[in-house]
Amino acid sequence: MVINDTPKHKGLRNQLVKVVKSKGISDENILKAISEIPRHLFMDSGFIDFAYQDKAFPIGAGQTISQPYTVAFQTELLQIEAGDKVLEIGTGSGYQTAVLIALKAEVYSIERQKELYEKTRKFLPKLGYVAKKLKYGDGYKGWEEYAPFDKILVTAGAPFVPKPLLEQLKIGGKLVIPVGDDVQVMTLYIRTGEKEFEKHEFGEFRFVPMLQEKEK
Ligand code: SAH
Repeated sequence: MVINDTPKHKGLRNQLVKVVKSKGISDENILKAISEIPRHLFMDSGFIDFAYQDKAFPIGAGQTISQPYTVAFQTELLQIEAGDKVLEIGTGSGYQTAVLIALKAEVYSIERQKELYEKTRKFLPKLGYVAKKLKYGDGYKGWEEYAPFDKILVTAGAPFVPKPLLEQLKIGGKLVIPVGDDVQVMTLYIRTGEKEFEKHEFGEFRFVPMLQEKEK
């Protein structure tokens, strides 16, 4: 059941879908997910009026909810199929997690800010979006216990590609990760064999940094 969602919000979402579509997103299932997920409920109340602009916004702990276009772009690169086992690094507000769940993926998601982890763990099921597993921890290590994954998605800017993430992909699996320091290049890795990976690059994006253990 969706709480505090109104026809006005639904109308704003349909506008947002048009914007995201005009920027080049064509996957109907992703557009449908954006038209259904009440993004305003994933943000601090002060920002509700901005929830359906195609922009990133603060969600606490110095982090942001990703721009809808970016969420759609990363999701489209992954080519999610129903039943895919997906590892997400950077749960944040849970908005991207909800998009993956709406596409019928089995989602495992890791967040390193305790405050956000706790908040999102309680919030997502209230909207009816149930992840397979959520964890408070360090995404650089991936999630060995549940590997291998069909798809892995990193939603923070990674200074380099963490080896465990490549190792935890199934053969034929895809990793989407923005790589770089101040600006990141959206990068898709496809595991084509035990030791072989194809790499494709897709333009520049800006994410909050993927932090390592000792950083704040
Ligand atoms: N998908 C989220 C994006 C949040 S921004 C959303 O749309 O709301 C990126 C998130 O990655 C932040 O919440 C940040 O705390 C988290 N993050 C950064 N480094 C991480 C790491 N090493 N492991 C797990 N999460 C990390």
